Amino acid sequence: MEETVYLSIEQQTGNFWIDNGLVYLLLRWGEGKYPVKDILNELMDKLVQPTGNKGEYYDVQKQQLREYDKRNWVAPVNLFIKVSGDPGGKVEVNGKRYPIRPPEFQLDIKLSKKQSVCDVCGQAARVTDAKMWMYPFVVDPGNFGNFYSGTKRGLRLCARCALAGLAAYLSWWWRRQGSDAVHFFLFHTDLSDLQRLHQEVLRPLQLTGESGGNVRPAFSGKYLHETTLGVLLFLFSHIPSSDVLLEKARQFLASLFGANGVADAPSVVLYAVRGVPAQAFDMKELKEFSHLQRLYRLYEGWKRGMEEIYDLPHPHQRVVRVLEQFYARRQREQETLWRDRIARAVLHWDDPLPVLEEFLFDVLVKQDNPRPLRQGTDWMLVDYYLKEVFQMDEQFIRTLSRFGHALGAAAHEKSEMGLLYALRNAKNVEEFYRVLNDVQFRLSLTVPESLLQLEKGDRIAGAAWRRVKHMLAIYAMNNYLRKETPREQDENREEA
Ligand SMILES: [Zn+2]
Repeated sequence: MEETVYLSIEQQTGNFWIDNGLVYLLLRWGEGKYPVKDILNELMDKLVQPTGNKGEYYDVQKQQLREYDKRNWVAPVNLFIKVSGDPGGKVEVNGKRYPIRPPEFQLDIKLSKKQSVCDVCGQAARVTDAKMWMYPFVVDPGNFGNFYSGTKRGLRLCARCALAGLAAYLSWWWRRQGSDAVHFFLFHTDLSDLQRLHQEVLRPLQLTGESGGNVRPAFSGKYLHETTLGVLLFLFSHIPSSDVLLEKARQFLASLFGANGVADAPSVVLYAVRGVPAQAFDMKELKEFSHLQRLYRLYEGWKRGMEEIYDLPHPHQRVVRVLEQFYARRQREQETLWRDRIARAVLHWDDPLPVLEEFLFDVLVKQDNPRPLRQGTDWMLVDYYLKEVFQMDEQFIRTLSRFGHALGAAAHEKSEMGLLYALRNAKNVEEFYRVLNDVQFRLSLTVPESLLQLEKGDRIAGAAWRRVKHMLAIYAMNNYLRKETPREQDENREEA
């Protein structure tokens, strides 16, 4: 009897990999009962495609070598599935071994005779031992324990979950950068919303025919967090208005990210997976990003500020330019480590100031043509971020900003960059105050009263002294560089 599966929108499993695959199957086949073999064959046709190269096999009947079109797993699936084609045997001709037919790619779902419970969907069914091509997390349960509900015996899947697991390979966004690639799964626990998301939003925004990936993030690099932030910014840019999405799709996307004021609407989660090509399945990182509605609100706040405070047009582009600037040129390559660390801080609601400070003092200052941070950076990542994310006192932020800027200007006027480094290098609160003392003396600046309020636990006006130090160092050095850079040149760079 032919094995069949029943596909339905009611069958969500809560597993992001399998559910994304189920949505793929539903969009292609619709609800209903289908032979396993038919679905498997069609998936294989999509997953294994001609590479454009030719190979040779030995035709045993005609006793001659013949050419064939080589086929292989499509990118980026070839990074994950390493099952090779079956050559049907090999023969030696003129000292060289040849397959006796064009290699055939086949995957089989061998189901148990007896029924058992599927580890993913929980249904009683005939099951198969999960292979990597059905569910890649099965290979490394230690590292990916959260996504692996099985025990030491391994994971058992019903035919539907196994097919969905294979289909999942066709459902994601990915981006390659050099030898690295990052893969993205947007996930929603409601299967019909997930289906809508794929059909109305993700597919229309998806690129085809590009070897570098099927999504074009606002920026991307070899690291996971920077590219993830780039992908989210790209998605966010389609929420207020979109030249690609239909109006109802745009509204749906807006509701998923809480953009229309519906607080606590069930939200989407983003999973990002980084793997290294050219190695047999090597998934380096898997990260889950929730709180995307909160991130969208932060992004909206940033955009508003760019418009209202700086009176800058194209606020989305401005926000992107601020976040993408954290790289250094190394010969012909860009080292984007700092951008990744800034993105990591933002995506995890962490403190970006240590990276910002490091980037200013160790990268920007030391360039051939030192330049300040892009316009709006200190407001976005210091003032606004600290107020929104760490609920830092607004008045104190303003005081520090004013003093920091004055410090930078005075240090520039008196050629005292060394003082800024001394400030940056302060290791404890005593050293920090010693530097401020020097500042008063050498730059004739008065340190604001509130900065002198040292509290228990080395806190200053309620904030950790180190954070206060980072803020002052950033404001001061950035303003120093602003004074250093001719306005005209700075403008050119802004538009470059
Ligand atoms: Zn199942």
